[in-house]
Amino acid sequence: MPDYSQRVSDSFNERMRLIRLRRKKENLRFWEEFRIIPGWLKVLVAVLYVAAVVIATMVNLAQEHNPYGNNMFPWELRDNPALASLALAGIVTLMSLMMASLIFMVAYVNRDAKRRGMNSGLWTLLVLILIPSTLIIGFVIYFLMREPLPYQCPQCGSTVGARFNFCPNCKCNLHPSCPQCKREIAEMDKFCPYCGNDLKAAANSTPSPLQNPA
Ligand SMILES: [Zn+2]
Ligand SMILES: [Zn+2]
Repeated sequence: MPDYSQRVSDSFNERMRLIRLRRKKENLRFWEEFRIIPGWLKVLVAVLYVAAVVIATMVNLAQEHNPYGNNMFPWELRDNPALASLALAGIVTLMSLMMASLIFMVAYVNRDAKRRGMNSGLWTLLVLILIPSTLIIGFVIYFLMREPLPYQCPQCGSTVGARFNFCPNCKCNLHPSCPQCKREIAEMDKFCPYCGNDLKAAANSTPSPLQNPA
């Protein structure tokens, strides 16, 4: 079925083009991205962490009244409740950090997918389902597959979608290719970076350059 394989390779090429576009246009910074995680979730995670440390410390201190001694720790720490509490707090902190990273990643996927016009419920479910078996594979798939954010048209500055071929405001060709070598070039390139073709002259000689990379 040539039609089917043509469609598959077309959608694969489109996917690769979107990934390239995202890497070119999006300059995401960690702390700015961290801000899209809802504030109430950050507070909740912090409260849960404090509660976990307090509970663990209380359980540890309660062991002191155990007539057989505190057997939660190796013997070096058994008669030293302060040191044992500190060690326990360290373990709880480490576990909490791992848990918090996962919770924040899921929340990030949920918010980021919504921002990119993707099905956020389905993507959140997918990463959640994949956490128990593969931990981060769901996130890897998400970060490869996510749609690029809308960006500014390089010619007129109005916001354009990542799947647009032309700017709806000024008709700027948003993914042009070189008319001579057919490779993908940037919108504002004057010369093709691959074959040196003069793109301005080529655009003037042909009134409507409708080349799109397949
Ligand atoms: Zn434009
Ligand atoms: Zn070229």
